[in-house]
Order: sequence, then C-alpha cells, then structure tokens
Amino acid sequence: MVELKTDTAIEAMYEAGQVVGRALTAAREAADVGVSLLELDEVARGVLREAGASSPFLGYRPSFAPVPFPAVICASVNDAIVHGIPTGYRLRDGDLVSLDCGAELGGWVGDSAISFTVGTPRPEDLRLIETAERALAAAVEVAVVGNRIGDIAHAIGTVCRAAGYGIPDGFGGHGIGRRMHEDPGVPNEGRPGRGFPLRHGMAIAIEPMLIGGGKDDWHTAPDGWTLRTNDGSRAAHVEHTVAIMDAGPRILTERR
Ligand code: MG
Ligand code: MG
Repeated sequence: MVELKTDTAIEAMYEAGQVVGRALTAAREAADVGVSLLELDEVARGVLREAGASSPFLGYRPSFAPVPFPAVICASVNDAIVHGIPTGYRLRDGDLVSLDCGAELGGWVGDSAISFTVGTPRPEDLRLIETAERALAAAVEVAVVGNRIGDIAHAIGTVCRAAGYGIPDGFGGHGIGRRMHEDPGVPNEGRPGRGFPLRHGMAIAIEPMLIGGGKDDWHTAPDGWTLRTNDGSRAAHVEHTVAIMDAGPRILTERR
C-alpha cells in the first residue's frame, strides 16, 4: 500500500533528510587515505546523536541477512555495490567509496547515498560517479505528478545503459516514510508510462546503482550483507529521498 504524506509530514521528513545530508557530508569530509570505514561510521553516528536522531540502519535485519546490520552507514568500497559493513579497512589512494545513510527523526525517515573517490582518482571512476549523479538527476526531473514509477525507472536505465554501465538485477529504490522501506518499489530500469502513478504526497527513495564493467551480475560477500560485482569492476551508488508534490519534486535529503 502506498501511503500519501501530508504536507506537515513532508516537512518532518525534510528535517530527517537534513540530518542524513549532514551525516553524509561530515563522513565524506572525514574520508581520506588511511582513514578507516569504522571511523566514518563514528563520524555519522556523532551527527545523528547531536541531532537527536536514531538510525534505521543500525540493527536492521531483513530476511536475507544473517546478522543485524551493525552500523549507521553502509560503506561500499570499489567492487562493493551497496550494503557494505564498515570495517577497520583503511581507505587507499584512488578508492571509490559509496556511503549510504539513514536517519529517523520525529518518527520519519530519510535515506540518501553518495559516491566519491579518495586520493588521486581514476578517470573512469569519476565518469562512473558522474553518470550515477546524472541518472539520479534525470530521475528526479521526471518524478512529477501525472508520471508513473516506470518513467523514473526508464530515466535511470537510459542514462546508465547509454554510458555502457551495468545495473544490478533486483535492487532499486523504494517508498519511504515512517519506515525506511515502503511501497512502491522504484526499479532502476523499466518502461515509461508503466507502474504506479505518481501523486502529490508520495515520498520515494531514488537510488541508481551502476556497475562499471557493464554487466548486471553481483553476488553477496561472505559477510552476508555486502553486494559485490561478479567481474570485480567498480560500482557507484547515489540516492536521494524525494517528495512528489504538485509544485514539483522536492529533494528532502539535499546537502548544503
Ligand atoms: Mg540508502
Ligand atoms: Mg534506500
């Protein structure tokens, strides 16, 4: 069931989204060669704590997961696509890092992700990240009343495929509100004009995931959480929580 949010609820989701944006910005600023993923998680925890927000990631245990998620961010490095568990791994020169973070504030949830490089970037990684950001922007642009979920999926898929990248099968965005994962699903590839119609008050997380090698195959790492590319190529992941409004799409997790 798709729950439509009141304008008051969307304001509350914006406040949660701002906490997520600040946590991601702080973690990104802290990320550098030699810094561990656990240290980045600690930075994000500090931002959530200071805001009085809780983490919808911490302790999260969907059916596929062997253990509850132990952190407030997902940290996915290089061939990790999403759901990376922060470890003591220390970032190396040229690493491609994707950070995903959620926050719950006043009963409402925000969810967002960024990808970036540390140290000296590989040009192909910058292109991958730039394409992911372009796919997200294209998707937000068509997240308007009167369109359908398929229009969003098509916008993402078109940008990714035109650049020659893979799209991991079976993963994508989602409705969001009081809970992190609500209806409807928001696939990263699809047919325009199909799927659930977009209405004022819908809130969705749009999250393109791109595989640099061009194939769509992935596997779950032995930790039971981390999704990795099968060909070992690098991946990028970006995400915003977006409200569909009569006045146009509003990015609730925008970073200042
Ligand atoms: Mg997320
Ligand atoms: Mg999400």
